[in-house]
Amino acid sequence: MSDFRGFEPLREKRGADQATGRGPDLTGLLTEADGSPVAVENPDAMSPVLLVCEHASRRLPEKMGSLGLSEEALKSHIAWDPGALAVSQLLVKSLDAALIYQRFSRLVYDCNRPPEADAAMPAVSEIFEIPGNASISAAERQARTDALYVPFTSTLSNFIAARKAAGRPPVLVTMHTFTPVYHGKQRDVEIGILHDDDSGLADAMLAAAGKTTHYAVRCNEPYGPADGVTHTLIQHGLKNGLRNVMIEIRNDLVSNEIGQKVMADYLTGILGESLRALSQ
Ligand SMILES: [Zn+2]
Repeated sequence: MSDFRGFEPLREKRGADQATGRGPDLTGLLTEADGSPVAVENPDAMSPVLLVCEHASRRLPEKMGSLGLSEEALKSHIAWDPGALAVSQLLVKSLDAALIYQRFSRLVYDCNRPPEADAAMPAVSEIFEIPGNASISAAERQARTDALYVPFTSTLSNFIAARKAAGRPPVLVTMHTFTPVYHGKQRDVEIGILHDDDSGLADAMLAAAGKTTHYAVRCNEPYGPADGVTHTLIQHGLKNGLRNVMIEIRNDLVSNEIGQKVMADYLTGILGESLRALSQ
């Protein structure tokens, strides 16, 4: 039996709004205790790098209960990208970069997917069925979109617009981790450098990575544009004419502080070298 608690408070609120003749309030998913869906760190950063972490957190909003999942599943990679936020926060310091991240789990809304995509609120993730996502009404889909995706994507848009207006267009770097074993299969790739139509920054990073043998670094692995993972790159990078890249780190490499520090140092090096090469 699922202990998914649904959207009761939201429905009450919608009824009240109908009584006043205003449109339904679909933003009532988050409580005061939940806090803001989006976090921004170091907005006045000197470097052009804007780090984005859509899968930073495994936290669920109070009203979502557990989505019918076990504690084990809620701690696993299906809920978040373990290590991605920690490495991003180290890069904030080493690069003097800005960081924007989503404070809630992708199980509620995957901010690297558009609202019309099934994967935005997946009913199945790898080997886990997600009972709380099995049949989501149109109103609930809208509520999740309004609560998590809309503020996330508008924070990004506003940040980028302000930097462009100031003559400092950002370099968009989205930060992810992936599981070493997927559907029972071991993955050899350690770092994926992913791009969509503009491969400029990805090519420069792959060239910089090719000069060392620290990690198995590959282009558009273990995912690529065909998997729908370049939504943020397209929406905020390509549409704004920004340099952009998506970084996927195998999560066993960043499962503790030492691994996170070593990875952040490595990425600081190849990203810095790439940006210098591109500015020449
Ligand atoms: Zn991710």
